[in-house]
Amino acid sequence: MEPVLTIALAGNPNAGKTTLFNHLTGARQHVGNYPGITVEQKEGCCLHQGKGVRVVDLPGTYSLTAYSVEELVARDFLINQRPDVVVDVVDASNLERNLYLSCQFLELGVPLVIALNMIDVAEKRGVTIDASALSVRLGVPVVPIIARSGKGVDQLLDAVLTVATTNLQPQPVFLSYGADLNQALDDMMPDLAACVELTAVYPQRWLGVKLLENDEQIVGKTLETYPEVGRRLIARGETIGQHLQQTLGVYPEAVIADHRYGYIKSITHQGVVTRKFVADRLYTSDKIDKVVTHRLLGPLIMAGVLFCLYTFTFSYSSVPVEWLARLFALISKGVDLLLPDGPFKSMVISGVVDGVGGVFGFVPIIMFMFFGIAVLEDSGYLARVAFMMDRIFHFFGLHGSSVMPFIISGGIAGGCAVPGVMASRTLRSPKERMATLLTVPFMNCGAKLPILTLLIGAFFSAHQARYMFLSTLAAWFIALCIAKILRLTVLRGASTPFVMELPPYRFPTLKGLVIHTWERTWQYMKKAGTVILGISILVWAMMTYPQLPETRASHYESLRQEALRTMAEDEAGQTAALARIKTEEAQERLRHSLGGRIGIAMEKVSQYAGIDWRTNIALIGGFAAKEVIVSTLGTAYSLGQVDPKEATSLKERLSKDPDWNPVVALAVLAFIMFYSPCFVTVICIAKESGSWKWAAFSILFNTLFAFTLAVAIYQIGALLYLR
Ligand code: GDP
Ligand code: MG
Repeated sequence: MEPVLTIALAGNPNAGKTTLFNHLTGARQHVGNYPGITVEQKEGCCLHQGKGVRVVDLPGTYSLTAYSVEELVARDFLINQRPDVVVDVVDASNLERNLYLSCQFLELGVPLVIALNMIDVAEKRGVTIDASALSVRLGVPVVPIIARSGKGVDQLLDAVLTVATTNLQPQPVFLSYGADLNQALDDMMPDLAACVELTAVYPQRWLGVKLLENDEQIVGKTLETYPEVGRRLIARGETIGQHLQQTLGVYPEAVIADHRYGYIKSITHQGVVTRKFVADRLYTSDKIDKVVTHRLLGPLIMAGVLFCLYTFTFSYSSVPVEWLARLFALISKGVDLLLPDGPFKSMVISGVVDGVGGVFGFVPIIMFMFFGIAVLEDSGYLARVAFMMDRIFHFFGLHGSSVMPFIISGGIAGGCAVPGVMASRTLRSPKERMATLLTVPFMNCGAKLPILTLLIGAFFSAHQARYMFLSTLAAWFIALCIAKILRLTVLRGASTPFVMELPPYRFPTLKGLVIHTWERTWQYMKKAGTVILGISILVWAMMTYPQLPETRASHYESLRQEALRTMAEDEAGQTAALARIKTEEAQERLRHSLGGRIGIAMEKVSQYAGIDWRTNIALIGGFAAKEVIVSTLGTAYSLGQVDPKEATSLKERLSKDPDWNPVVALAVLAFIMFYSPCFVTVICIAKESGSWKWAAFSILFNTLFAFTLAVAIYQIGALLYLR
């Protein structure tokens, strides 16, 4: 029997088209190729209500743009062959995503029946879909089926015949693509109407949308048949494209896609889909997100949450920090009593105990910070932070996917630039990727936290949490500005659009939190116990050798003898004189040492930023690992210490030192925050960028920038506040 009508099966890959096709046609099928290309064309026929039906299985596609051969084949078939009915096979267990294609059938205005396939799978997952409600909203028949068993297929064919016999060419659905694009489409209408040859085949507004989407096939056809009008239309598309780039930082395609998804959401969100198991969670998540990612409220809430994190970290950790400081002071005293005087004792106290103690002293802070971050991460809030930052990132020439590398590197304080640099791999645009991996080291990584905390505690102690929060904001600000500068100069280029999924919120489990906190804290402690211990001892040696020549040592010895002799009666005066001599000697020793000499040589430059030679030694150590800055300062300042029995914390020593004041502290802070990334990070940058040039750039550029900033702070600060 001659078939009286043709139906085409369309749908996403794996939606079940072939299964349905086989069920419909049985053995009455043959496989060929679409003319000229290797895409397979399957055709068959079936009989329903005494009518012969020709069935064509179209290639699976997610969209109807001209991005792939499959998409083009499917589209051309629909437009040129004009099947009587298009059966859109939709995977019910993945409804929203599948409806994206359905939405495009509606825009194209083809006679449509939706086969809601795999309802068995959906049901197993606790998803129920109200087919009739969906049908009302979409304005086309929706028939639930199970292609595998053939359930519902008869009803599907009934619906197909009904649509075919009404024989009405449906109107293309009018979708709004936002004010800008709608206006552009309106402007294009008269020109589009003039392209009669094309509008005979394609719906008029659809043509406009395709031109805006920069669809190769349609653009080509338009220019070919109507060169002059076509150029005008394309020029209009380019204007709006540039406008969207400037205002939203995205391409028209992305805006159009967003509005399609918006349309789908508006359809599925009105009681069409019920989720038995996860319904409450998703629903609650959406509700929370309405507030938490709100345009205005969202950023305020985010600032509030982060501020709470800082308060939590710094106020609750102060007690254990105090204990640890006391413990290490005690160990120091114990070693002093047990070991005989000499270089070994000096190494143990100044190199090992003070150095490693300085780093371990911050374990509680790091732990509290990591715990807070684990809460944000495990609950799903961190993804919202990334989502909200996306807009800002586009403005600075970065990509939404840059947010994670920034957060990992210490965007919320306490992270590490090494995994941060590696995380930038997810970025596809090479320039956005370079800009990301060059700027993530500006974040306050976990290794910078101790020195930041120390300086803030010593000089701005009243508001530690507030200052730490400010320093994080400063890090972000500087990193983003530098990114923008890089993207405007050495890394100039277009930015790419971005879509991000928000996982539903969940209550973090205590076990998960503890594990996450412990993993990161342990990493930090391991580093303190190995790498930092080694560097600490190395730096101690640099500060101890070469030792003072015999003559200078005996000079101090004779001074001591003289003090003992001349002030035999005046005990207080004698102690003071001895202490003075000891300080002088220690100072001279340090100056004489290798580290001291380097530090002093560098002071010629660093003095403009108010940075003294002892801090210089620490900053050099910091290039090996930022944690070392604290331990080196500890060593440098304990070497000049008057009496080890009166061991005070480094914090107190710095705040009492005449070379230090809040202005110096701020300049040093700025320098430490932004100068060269540590050694390991530099190696990572070289690896990830595939060139040592970028690694060298990162060292030089960052150090130069940090120094300029520190000089500016010191000079202005000195002018305003000192003397
Ligand atoms: P196509 O890519 O659209 O042609 O999809 P297929 O017809 O090849 O189907 C993909 C997979 O889904 C196959 O393993 C089918 O057996 C399975 N499948 C198709 N329809 C159903 C259904 O209604 N229920 C279930 N459980 N599985 C199905
Ligand atoms: Mg197939």
